[in-house]
Amino acid sequence: MKDIQPIFDPTKGYPFIIAGPCSAETEMQVMQTAEQLKENGFEYFRAGVWKPRTRPGGFEGNGKKALEWLKKAKKELDIKICTEVANQDQTKMVLDYGIDIIWIGARTTTSPFAVQEIADTLYKEESRIPVLVKNPPCPDLELWIGAIERFYNAGIRKLGAIHRGFLEWPKSVYRNSPIWAIPTEFSKRIPEITMIHDPSHISGDKELIEYLSKKAINGNVFDGLMIESHYKPELAITDARQQITPEELYKIISNIKENYIL
Ligand code: PEP
Ligand code: MN
Repeated sequence: MKDIQPIFDPTKGYPFIIAGPCSAETEMQVMQTAEQLKENGFEYFRAGVWKPRTRPGGFEGNGKKALEWLKKAKKELDIKICTEVANQDQTKMVLDYGIDIIWIGARTTTSPFAVQEIADTLYKEESRIPVLVKNPPCPDLELWIGAIERFYNAGIRKLGAIHRGFLEWPKSVYRNSPIWAIPTEFSKRIPEITMIHDPSHISGDKELIEYLSKKAINGNVFDGLMIESHYKPELAITDARQQITPEELYKIISNIKENYIL
């Protein structure tokens, strides 16, 4: 897979940051958060539109309505939008709405059928949209690489992997254990892949975001970070404990950049 291309412009600084709320909750929340992120220099905005819930009964996202808000944020703030898709219909819809980057959620990566369905849809639509694949919750490197190969075979060349940690039992301090050796081995096998660390879903706790981000950035494996940020984290419908404000994110990233040892 030597012809895989970088997703971000390497002349625009390091590390690359994708930030935004776990879910797009309201138009106001999307616009406020995106505006504050942009003011702090972050131009890649993430927000979930369909939320995969482990157990039924929780908030499952605002769907199409939320895509309208993301489209508005993109147009008014001149930012890039990144969201999750899990099936054919969702994939077609995000392409219609001009979303810039898609990601495959951890639970979806575990299903070769679901991943293939999304890859086939991109192929049929002749899309070259950049695709980021989260690691599956089980520590299975082959399954993670297999998902990347399905998109590669569908003609996608801007490919990235997101390290969001692995389930363990009994639980440790982490919501999902990092098992750093897995992304390290991944990037040895496919060095050209854009590798992104997601401290939000690994920690499950905003207090650990800075520590994990620093560790990732100093480890020479990651190109960037995906971090959940909300204008008022305490009001978040999903993943409230792990979200930070755009200003807190700015402080963390400035600190990391100052201390980064080249
Ligand atoms: C998310 O990014 O909000 C999300 C649902 O993540 P994951 O698929 O890693 O659980
Ligand atoms: Mn989340």
